[in-house]
Amino acid sequence: MNVLVWFRRDLRVNDHPALVQAAALGRVLPLYIADPADWLAPGASARQWEFVAETLTGLRADLAALGAPLVVRCGPAAQVIARLSRSYRIDRVLCLHRPGSPVPPGVEELAPDAPLPPPALTPVPGIEPGLIPAARALGMAADTCPHRQPGGRAAGLALAESFLAGRGADYPASLVSPIGGERSGSRLSPHLAHGVLSREELRALLPGALPSRAARGLIEALRQPLAPPPALTGGEGGHLAAFAAAETGLPFVDACLRYFRATGWLNARGREMLASVALHLLDLPPQGVAAVLARLSTDHDPAILGPQIAALCQPSARIANPVRLGQEHDPHGRFTRRWLPELAAVPDDHLHAPWRWTGAGRVLGRRYPEPLCDPTHAARAARARLGSPQRAWPERHSAADLVLIEDAVMRPRRPSAQLSFDL
Ligand SMILES: Cc1cc2nc3c(=O)[nH]c(=O)nc-3n(C[C@H](O)[C@H](O)[C@H](O)COP(=O)(O)OP(=O)(O)OC[C@H]3O[C@@H](n4cnc5c(N)ncnc54)[C@H](O)[C@@H]3O)c2cc1C
Repeated sequence: MNVLVWFRRDLRVNDHPALVQAAALGRVLPLYIADPADWLAPGASARQWEFVAETLTGLRADLAALGAPLVVRCGPAAQVIARLSRSYRIDRVLCLHRPGSPVPPGVEELAPDAPLPPPALTPVPGIEPGLIPAARALGMAADTCPHRQPGGRAAGLALAESFLAGRGADYPASLVSPIGGERSGSRLSPHLAHGVLSREELRALLPGALPSRAARGLIEALRQPLAPPPALTGGEGGHLAAFAAAETGLPFVDACLRYFRATGWLNARGREMLASVALHLLDLPPQGVAAVLARLSTDHDPAILGPQIAALCQPSARIANPVRLGQEHDPHGRFTRRWLPELAAVPDDHLHAPWRWTGAGRVLGRRYPEPLCDPTHAARAARARLGSPQRAWPERHSAADLVLIEDAVMRPRRPSAQLSFDL
């Protein structure tokens, strides 16, 4: 029997029930399809493809070592499968189930994440493996991500090892701040999103490897379900382009966006803040916000991003105040100044709300944009729009916050194309 195994977001040979079943049934044709419908979609970006392409190179070598190298083809998935099935007398097509990734008729889906060793493979003979295309060949726009994490199983395993061997000891603390976790977070998300490592594999490594609070935290994260992405409303609109360009005029937001753009990664709190600001303070359309965040993420996973955006649209979601979050988590501006050097002259006290600084005229509207909104007023408007007593984030007002908020209310309106204060 000839069995085609279709690799999608499960780019590994370990813990792969479809590969194991195919090997037991007969000759195997392992296939990856670069479908332009996926790679030219609004949430796709070259950083994601480049991570996948690096991973495919490793996967091809791993499969070759087992006996059947990876075949790569471009085109609509259903057509590619039908063509190969005709040409190579394929009897069955197997893949792993993935929430929100439907399969064409005739493709059998198996449950993922069973702990299984890689099987020996007998290849379907006479098939040309095919080139792994460059992002440009797929028609994707250039995408500069100088600190992108490298793809491939070796890189994923090295990351897991350094996390388990020590980096992860401060894991729970790293989750509190929007800018935490570069060192003590796992940063395994691209490897998990593209299935280079299985969740099962990581769960098995954890007990005993980390202080128990850290291990529990990661196990908890790995337990979060994947779900079919819900339909989100709206596309382009409002100040979406300014948000995408990291030009909101809200320094902590723009610094996080620039960091995300340069690295392809941001921790969960950071993504939550960006989404909350975009959806509530800037009143941007959910589908457009999701597409901007997706393109920034090497780990873009519709089965996580979609449900997260939908949850943040709920009336009960907390509304982020990026001025107060910046003051709390980056009081001296080490992070913000690094990513926004144009704010070097702004004193610490005003860094996260430079429009309240007496020297603002020297910087705003010249080297750095005027803010698109005043967070306090915009949060009030969002609450009114959604008709609910939403939770603020951070929740408590310190004395300093109250002074700043009062400052904002007392400050006269400044003429600007971008200011939208409701003073
Ligand atoms: C608005 C928003 C968008 C997000 N978009 C994505 C995305 O496209 N891809 C993505 O992988 N994560 C996404 N997340 C979840 C989270 O932010 C990232 O998984 C995390 O920042 C990755 O860093 P890490 O690997 O160090 O995570 P860790 O904290 O080490 O977590 C380990 C793994 O657990 C899984 N995980 C974590 N949070 C969730 C969750 N809420 N639901 C399901 N699984 C989870 C991920 O695979 C992650 O790699 C999003 C979160 C928010 C708030």
